[in-house]
Amino acid sequence: METTHWIVDKQGITHEHYPQIEEAARLIRKGEVIAFPTETVYGLGGQVQMDKAVQKIFTAKGRPSDNPLIVHIADRKDVDHLAQSVPNYAEALMDSFWPGPLTIIVPKQEGVLSELVTAGLHTVAIRMPDHPVALALIKEAGVPVAAPSANRSGKPSPTTAAHVLDDLSGRIAGVLDGGDTGVGLESTVVDCTGPHPIILRPGGITQTDMEAVVGKVKIGGALQNEKDVPKSPGMKYTHYAPEAPLYLIEGTHSFIQEQIDELRAEGKKVGVMATEESEHFYVADRIISCGRRHDIESVAKHLYGALRSFNVSSLDVILAETFPSEGVGVAIMNRLEKAAGHRWIKEVD
Ligand code: AMP
Ligand code: MG
Repeated sequence: METTHWIVDKQGITHEHYPQIEEAARLIRKGEVIAFPTETVYGLGGQVQMDKAVQKIFTAKGRPSDNPLIVHIADRKDVDHLAQSVPNYAEALMDSFWPGPLTIIVPKQEGVLSELVTAGLHTVAIRMPDHPVALALIKEAGVPVAAPSANRSGKPSPTTAAHVLDDLSGRIAGVLDGGDTGVGLESTVVDCTGPHPIILRPGGITQTDMEAVVGKVKIGGALQNEKDVPKSPGMKYTHYAPEAPLYLIEGTHSFIQEQIDELRAEGKKVGVMATEESEHFYVADRIISCGRRHDIESVAKHLYGALRSFNVSSLDVILAETFPSEGVGVAIMNRLEKAAGHRWIKEVD
């Protein structure tokens, strides 16, 4: 299959006439799958009612079929069709954070979605993205769009159309290229099926952001304790990994350099994921900065691009600096822990 690459100017969208978006929406209505930019990462969308379309998403990504998809909407009224019931606190979260990087899980209305979207669960995950191209595409398609991140399963999520094409060229009908995404990490996923919201996946909207609106917000057990059964099926899979094994490393710059030197003395090619503040401290085979430590949003934005860029040199091992688990740092460390398979090297003093 040939993958069409449409360049769109996100500032210039007028909703009525945008031939590339009209063409992409027509293909979605026909049951094809299309990658599109959102404010978090690029998504791979197919219409939610058609088994054939949803199956194509799983096939293109190589995604396990028990990992459900987030339904993307452009009109808040669609929640009424998709959900069976919505607690008041979930309405308040939608009021405050939609459109935006927050996914709400609620009991689903039976018979509305392809069963493949929810992987047999009785709940549905819904989000309204804050991106003019995503919103225009969903409106033009006239149907909610199921969309996971537009990467091969297990790889870092794509934050540019080039990342999408690296992974999925020839496997999908097209990609709408709206330039770099914004936040750079996937949405916060919050379970709204109980008396209080529970964060199942940290993201750009933090626990503190939500608590300011709805009071107590809990953190899902599986995020704190590895042995807990994840309530969100996707949490159990390895994710975001570059090709070489990645280790999280914590210690002084000289400790980190000693570890690099030891590995290189064993004949290993070593990559280091550093920051703009620290990159000049190291000597290694490849050093990549993932942003400015003092501007944690810049790290969120560049993290996946940095992880992907290690793949161009054939490295034996990658050491990644870590970040404090506060604010967006919680989401950054969640993704880094998964990329590293929870492997750490720590300086003991
Ligand atoms: P991705 O599509 O790769 O951004 O991942 C979406 C995440 O949302 C995965 O971890 C899914 O397991 C999770 N998810 C989607 N739908 C549900 C649901 N109904 N209940 C719990 N988690 C869900
Ligand atoms: Mg993903």
